[in-house]
Amino acid sequence: MLSEFDLISRYFTRAPRSNIDHIALGVGDDCALLMPAAGTQLAISTDMLVEGRHFFPDAEPFALGHKCLAVNLSDLAAMGARPLAFTLALALPEAREEWLKPFSTGLLALADLHQCELIGGDTTKGPLNICITVFGETLPGQALRRDAAQPGDDIWISGTLGDARLALAAYRNELVLDAASHAQAASRMHQPTPRVALGMALRGIAHAAIDISDGLVGDLGHILKRSGVGATLAVDSLPAGTVLSRQPQAIRRRFTLAGGDDYELCFTAASANRAAVQAAAQSATIGVTRIGTIDAKSGLRLHDANDAALDLQLTSFDHFRST
Ligand code: ADP
Ligand code: MG
Repeated sequence: MLSEFDLISRYFTRAPRSNIDHIALGVGDDCALLMPAAGTQLAISTDMLVEGRHFFPDAEPFALGHKCLAVNLSDLAAMGARPLAFTLALALPEAREEWLKPFSTGLLALADLHQCELIGGDTTKGPLNICITVFGETLPGQALRRDAAQPGDDIWISGTLGDARLALAAYRNELVLDAASHAQAASRMHQPTPRVALGMALRGIAHAAIDISDGLVGDLGHILKRSGVGATLAVDSLPAGTVLSRQPQAIRRRFTLAGGDDYELCFTAASANRAAVQAAAQSATIGVTRIGTIDAKSGLRLHDANDAALDLQLTSFDHFRST
């Protein structure tokens, strides 16, 4: 059986990377020491993943390691921040190497992709619970805040929506997918891609941004509320995931609007910036789609392809209301 300190040193401690200069001290002391560049602001965010709530008890550990950092990096992306470092607080029922090795490999592979170093954490015995705090860097006045949308702004979305929710529906036997389609949709659910490069490229171009974790309607709703505005969405122009796009319209609409677990960026930008948004997306090698408009009038209006009003009953994911 591994001791707590063996476990930390074997799976979560690495030699300092030569290409990273913003960390003065990493894992092993009472605190880590970070060196954000002069004049920058720290962007900080925490996300907790709990077994049985955010992932299945038999979740594959490599993908789980990826996902728990991905959802945190997605919050930095939604702020337009550059990832610097993260901490990991881990409760584990037992120190099993068959779990720890793939988990830390998946986690640290994504960390390396974004030069975001693991600088510390806490490890304890208990029901599986993974809590990550990320630290990022942004410039004063350049963060993409939820309260910055303006009437007349275009509303944009990166990538595609709904495949993660479609995979969940298949797991729950709400619908049937063939094996290949299910596997394809499930990879969106288990290994989301945080849109970090896009968030950074949108600094100075976008007004407000949020990442889609609980569903577009609910998450866009946060921007609307904080910005004191409303919006009109062109529901049938929402980009559905590859697998979802083969489903009937009612499912397409429901899962693009209120799917959850997509980790795409929804952002607003002045219509004068359309070309700049497209150039930012191209530099980040991700597609973006214009899906609606910010209105001065409060509330969210859903329109179909003929611009007729739709009345869809949708709820976004709320841990204390739904199951
Ligand atoms: P303390 O008792 O001072 O809080 P710990 O014994 O909890 O220290 O941790 C020892 C060192 O290992 C610290 O630097 C801490 O940040 C780090 N650490 C603990 N758990 C983890 C983990 N899961 N991942 C990365 N670093 C960790
Ligand atoms: Mg500790």
